[in-house]
Amino acid sequence: MNPLVHRVALAIAALVAAVALPSMAKSQGNTEAADATVHVLPVQGNIYMLVGAGANVTVQVGSTGVLLVDTGLAAMSNKVLAAVRTLSDKPIRYIVDTTDDPDHIGGNESIAKTGSTITGGNVVGDIGASAGDTAAIIAFQSILDRMSAPTGKRFAMPQGAWPTDAYETPQKSFWFNGDSIRVFHQPGHTDGDSIVYFRRADVVSAGDIFRTDSYPVIDLDRGGSIQGVIDGLNHLLDLAIPADDKSKDEGGTMVIPGHGRLCDQADVVVYQEMVTIVRDRIQDMVNRGLTLDQAKAAKPTRDYDPLYGANTGPWTTDMFVEAVYRSLSAKH
Ligand SMILES: [Zn+2]
Repeated sequence: MNPLVHRVALAIAALVAAVALPSMAKSQGNTEAADATVHVLPVQGNIYMLVGAGANVTVQVGSTGVLLVDTGLAAMSNKVLAAVRTLSDKPIRYIVDTTDDPDHIGGNESIAKTGSTITGGNVVGDIGASAGDTAAIIAFQSILDRMSAPTGKRFAMPQGAWPTDAYETPQKSFWFNGDSIRVFHQPGHTDGDSIVYFRRADVVSAGDIFRTDSYPVIDLDRGGSIQGVIDGLNHLLDLAIPADDKSKDEGGTMVIPGHGRLCDQADVVVYQEMVTIVRDRIQDMVNRGLTLDQAKAAKPTRDYDPLYGANTGPWTTDMFVEAVYRSLSAKH
């Protein structure tokens, strides 16, 4: 992609995200999904991004099959599949869950069912591989623990949606479609988040550590923490290399956020700085002994609220400030 095309693609991504977000919010209840559209956006190399199905869905295609990072809302599964089929007619082999929110894993069961895993040792190609019944679902262990919790618990899910390949190590690496894929455990939004790095394509799928449409969602009940989010953003900056504008070189690492528009390294820098500054302000308030209400009243996010704030909806500015305050206070 030349730099101009690249910039145009970024601009289109921003537009698509802006159009898609209101309908995403409505489709949380799965009732409006019939009206929603899934847009396919080329990212870089053999990586694409699907926008409008809930969380962003990352698609890697190649001769060995298809890999998805997240699967969107359950009610959008058919549209996600139709979008994938415009890119490849190969079987879906892998699904990686970056977290266990319904708008990230809703399609797990129905989409995995259409695929088939590659079994029988190292995953290096089609030769000698035998097919399993469904695509493999990769996620951190605590995601499986929550999904498979006894019925009645908050996040229990049908068995067909569960990870088949839960990992407990700091990272899991494998080779697929001519690329090395590294899945990193990156707790922050919850204790079970992953980010996925496609080394050759030079694309990172960041999950909810990084989003352009709101402050980071820190779910303390599921083991999230503000420090985890910042560690995750720092890790993204370790992985992401900016394109050199002066040499008009194409490329640079592309970063697919959990929600919002397609980004590059500079966008992650902006977000990392914002989150770090807000963390420092609230840490200072905690150190000075301000109560939670006093901290909220001091409006530590005021200058960023036009970009990331919300007074209504599932993740308000107040909820973010409270989560950061509690996350920082819990250590003392
Ligand atoms: Zn999300």
